Amino acid sequence: MRIDLHTHSVASDGTEQPDEVIASAVRAGLDVVALTDHDSTRGWDEAERAARELGIGLVRGVELSCRLHGRSVHLLGYLLDPQSPALLAEAETVREARVERARRIVDRLSKDLPLTWGDVLQQTGDEATVGRPHIADALVARGHVPDRTAAFDRLLATGSPYWVPHYAPDAAHAIGMVLEAGGVPVLAHPGAARRDRPVSDAEIAGLVDAGLAGLEVDHRDNDEAQRARLRAAARRHDLLETGSSDYHGTGKPNRLGENLTTAEVLAEITQRGRLEVLR
Ligand code: AMP
Ligand code: FE
Ligand code: FE
Ligand code: ZN
Repeated sequence: MRIDLHTHSVASDGTEQPDEVIASAVRAGLDVVALTDHDSTRGWDEAERAARELGIGLVRGVELSCRLHGRSVHLLGYLLDPQSPALLAEAETVREARVERARRIVDRLSKDLPLTWGDVLQQTGDEATVGRPHIADALVARGHVPDRTAAFDRLLATGSPYWVPHYAPDAAHAIGMVLEAGGVPVLAHPGAARRDRPVSDAEIAGLVDAGLAGLEVDHRDNDEAQRARLRAAARRHDLLETGSSDYHGTGKPNRLGENLTTAEVLAEITQRGRLEVLR
């Protein structure tokens, strides 16, 4: 079984429509794929139609923006009720905060190079969760940088003079909301050192107390040493270990299926989640 539990569509900062992500997953030889857009479940219906038509398993998920001791971390939530009031309201608050924050980043950039909020809107789908990748796309369209990666390296990195943070709920609170919605909370790329400091063992222990169910161990942003540390933490706390690509279409080099989750772990997620895996 080839199972990839982390992908993005144009409902957030991926470059493919939800049905295209599903078609790409079929071409990549996956048996099951999860759609996990940032702070949004708006891609679910289209993904479901495509998954049924193309005969691939679909795990409906979301990647929630959170804060943990002052930095941004991401929480994957699988098979949760998308109408759960607390979760819906919080996701809406975060999406609004993301727009305000993107406008402030553009204000800062526009002091040094020609770029307008209109440029960013041209790169952003109607209902998309707005993020730095859309600003990156606007910088590419203006010819300031060749691609998203260069935009992040040169202008948009966390801590750069143009960077601005946005509101997000505390990670322990987000875990509680995912559980309340009947979902399975898994911490995304906890060993990623490129964005900010990795989530420490003590922080993982704290999140386990809040109800964390798993760690995304196999992800390209976790290096080998981090993966070994995370596997040990998962064993210590009896957590699920997932592996995923974090596919963003052409927006990132990550390829579908480059990391995989076992059928045993998916069975456990399925058993704990409120929703079914669609086929
Ligand atoms: P934001 O959510 O606005 O803080 O932007 C973070 C998002 O930008 C992440 O979810 C990634 O999808 C994307 N991202 C981060 N670094 C890069 C990079 N070097 N190249 C392309 N996309 C990136
Ligand atoms: Fe992203
Ligand atoms: Fe993420
Ligand atoms: Zn992601």
